[in-house]
Amino acid sequence: GHKNLNAKLVLLGDMGTGKSSLVLRFVKGQFLEFQESTIGAAFFSQTLAVNDATVKFEIWDTAGQERYHSLAPMYYRGAAAAIIVYDITSTESFTRAKKWVQELQKQGNPNMVVALAGNKADLEDKRKVTVEEARVYAEENGLFFTETSAKTAANVNDIFYEIAKKLPRA
Ligand code: GDP
Ligand code: MG
Repeated sequence: GHKNLNAKLVLLGDMGTGKSSLVLRFVKGQFLEFQESTIGAAFFSQTLAVNDATVKFEIWDTAGQERYHSLAPMYYRGAAAAIIVYDITSTESFTRAKKWVQELQKQGNPNMVVALAGNKADLEDKRKVTVEEARVYAEENGLFFTETSAKTAANVNDIFYEIAKKLPRA
């Protein structure tokens, strides 16, 4: 039958990778060239219908800076899903994304649905991280992977939709 699910979802990743922009695109269908940086964390909610369920995402958009790192467990603890975001134009942000994956593997809920988003896919001419290396890494670590663009909206709804499909139907 049809199910109504509530799912806590956390966005993790380096500052500037586009976490807030992905949420703004998903929740409001908007994009800002000068998105204000997040202080601490921000909360949003958005409902999505998949085949057999209506999923209400309770989204925690974290700040990403190292100085807020100790707060991160508050947001990922008990989360059903996480989106780890890097910027395809920054190898450092990809390295940082891998650190988040390791942290979730060690400290996170073992049933958590984890997605890896290579954001800013519209900036092809500035690309530093290949699709292939990210895909291989994601496969090795059991992550759903896609490149996204909060700017053009490419694959933004899809990532939330894929997560919604993978959530356990309690
Ligand atoms: P956060 O720190 O991870 O929340 O990153 P923001 O959402 O604040 O975005 C940082 C900057 O990158 C802002 O100036 C955004 O406009 C820009 N940005 C975010 N997503 C994209 C994208 O997909 N493409 C491009 N070209 N710029 C983006
Ligand atoms: Mg932000």
